[in-house]
Amino acid sequence: MEIDLKNYKSGYVAIIGKPNVGKSTLLNSLIGEKLSITTPKPQTTRQSIKGIYSDKHRQIIFVDTPGFVEPRYELHTRMRNIISDSLKDADIVIFISDIKGFPSEYDQAVMERIVNVRAPKIAIINKIDLADEGEFETKKKLLVDNFDKVIGMSAIRGSHNHQLMNYITEKLPLSPPFYDPENLSDLPMRFFVQELIREKIFLQYSKEIPYSAAVLIDRYEERPDVTDISATIWIERESQKRILIGTGGIGLRRIREAVERELTLSLEGRVLIHLWVKVKKDWRKSNLYLKELGF
Ligand code: GDP
Ligand code: MG
Repeated sequence: MEIDLKNYKSGYVAIIGKPNVGKSTLLNSLIGEKLSITTPKPQTTRQSIKGIYSDKHRQIIFVDTPGFVEPRYELHTRMRNIISDSLKDADIVIFISDIKGFPSEYDQAVMERIVNVRAPKIAIINKIDLADEGEFETKKKLLVDNFDKVIGMSAIRGSHNHQLMNYITEKLPLSPPFYDPENLSDLPMRFFVQELIREKIFLQYSKEIPYSAAVLIDRYEERPDVTDISATIWIERESQKRILIGTGGIGLRRIREAVERELTLSLEGRVLIHLWVKVKKDWRKSNLYLKELGF
């Protein structure tokens, strides 16, 4: 990729919003090709990087902040800290909500949290395909005072992507790219694989299991003929472990196969995944484990 360094713009864009409002959908649609570019680079302070968009003139690093899980857990506090950290580092903040759910308690909490953030703030009211113009205008009024820009969109249809990208570009600082725009796909993939495994667990099981599961990549080996990856899924109870593994190992096999299939496409080569399930009772409450798990 030829880049124009003279006027190059680059920066971090934090995305915050309740689970299920459409953050991943928006990212995938903005970044286009899900697999080749949502390649997070492992950096201790920026664990939640979700996707990097690069072209000739700009590089936008989207940082997806984790949603709240359950308030009574220690994990929740950690996530709040991650949210605060990503706000601190952000050049631009995007707050995204679902038009039907807005303003939820979560939305209110986030809005309070970001009032004092200096970076330009964009509010996205997503899923406007589910509502009418009147509802949009009413909800927009609740946001205009605290945000520099309010955009209604349907992330699933990719509507208004252009408007959003243009506005982001306008606000991005002049800076050379933080990541090599040529070699995005060569960046370490560990965290991406971790996320991919988590995504498959979410797709395959009801809420209790995914929220009780954490994924750790134990080994990531790139050999000439194959990428060989081992991961442990930590879970809170023996009963959940049995469900996750499934009869004769079918549950775990499905996860493994789905991850191998997607990775084989993006890495353009053979991929082997080995998965283990281990129980650590109440890991969500244990500081040590949270650290190990990267929170
Ligand atoms: P996240 O948890 O914030 O990352 O949300 P996801 O991107 O996973 O989306 C949650 C659900 O909302 C998925 O079923 C999406 O297909 C759906 N969704 C996302 N954007 C839209 C939209 O613009 N309109 C509608 N109707 N559904 C959407
Ligand atoms: Mg998501």
